[in-house]
Amino acid sequence: MIYLDAAATSPVRREVLEAMWPHLTGEFGNPSSHHAVGESAARALAEARASVAAWLGCRASEVTFTSGGTEADNLAIKGIALGDPRGRHIVTTPIEHEAVLESVDYLVRLHGFTVTFVPVGRDGLVAPADFGAALRPDTTLASVMLANNEVGTVQPIAELAALAHAVGVPFHTDAVQAAGWLPLDVGALGVDALTVSGHKIGAPKGVGALYVRGRIPVEPLVHGGGQERGRRSGTENVAGAVALGVAARLALADRAARASAAAAARDAFIAGVLAEVPDAELTGHPSSRLPGTASFVFPATNGEAVLLELERRGIVSSSGSACAAGSEDASHVLLALGYPEDVARTAVRFSWGPEVVAADLAAVAPAVGEAVRAVRGLAD
Ligand code: PLP
Repeated sequence: MIYLDAAATSPVRREVLEAMWPHLTGEFGNPSSHHAVGESAARALAEARASVAAWLGCRASEVTFTSGGTEADNLAIKGIALGDPRGRHIVTTPIEHEAVLESVDYLVRLHGFTVTFVPVGRDGLVAPADFGAALRPDTTLASVMLANNEVGTVQPIAELAALAHAVGVPFHTDAVQAAGWLPLDVGALGVDALTVSGHKIGAPKGVGALYVRGRIPVEPLVHGGGQERGRRSGTENVAGAVALGVAARLALADRAARASAAAAARDAFIAGVLAEVPDAELTGHPSSRLPGTASFVFPATNGEAVLLELERRGIVSSSGSACAAGSEDASHVLLALGYPEDVARTAVRFSWGPEVVAADLAAVAPAVGEAVRAVRGLAD
């Protein structure tokens, strides 16, 4: 089986699992307990936080562990917006993950916020001029994802964040898909808040983190014992945090070399698929894209049917975002990019981690051709 759905999730890496194990067994303490067992858990948690902070180029006190990317996005959007009483307007894009879109929708429905969705081009890029024009004196937060989970387009985040700062608006970015591929230094990106998730980089599902700069007020969403500096109550997931800390170290190591090797394999794969299926279209930006994602529309097919044909040939991929929980709707991302609904339903996304070798990817392109021809009733 060739697993090409890394954007949905990836396996836990051995080094990560080995680092977690003691914290699930012998060193099981509660970091808030005032005895040796608790103190050892507190030390492990602090070490993990320092490792995530080193990855993001921030202070450890600026990292809040969460139950994953979804919770980190919720905390960023609702927590920062509700923590600032000065305005009630949000700027975002229509291609964000549901964790951002639904959090914004909650603020609109229950807290009287208004939202401006900055349009994206056919390549998925936000034009800085459009973004700048959407900012208003009462804007409390802007949120634009670093890289899109369906088409892989990478946004000019530093430029967008600078525009937001020029008018005093805090800027959040969802870096869940960029993690492991792109530099996440929050200083270089110029962002005030940034979301990461463990299970895209070899840590388990159910752990993530939110960076929030300095003293930006964040209204907590989970109330209780005041853990995570009051931002996220609940006994900490120590083993999960340790896992994220180790995965962060691995994500930082050799990142540039891994990313450029994967980008070369990606470009060869894209060329191979387009040679096999000449009327296929690569979605997203041709060059400003993740090294581990290539998504296509295959006219006169159905994405789900192509997936089944691929699976029969031992290739696991996706018709878009796994996060829409089995939704049959056409992708909101492709619709926002301007694809008609019937074309959006023909999308197939291939995504991989650094462990996929170029030879595996090269072998997939002919199978994609076979699968598309099978769905079109043109058996080889
Ligand atoms: N943001 C993006 C861009 C994602 O791709 C995902 C998950 O796929 C999430 C947020 C949610 O992260 P989690 O699955 O950790 O809740």
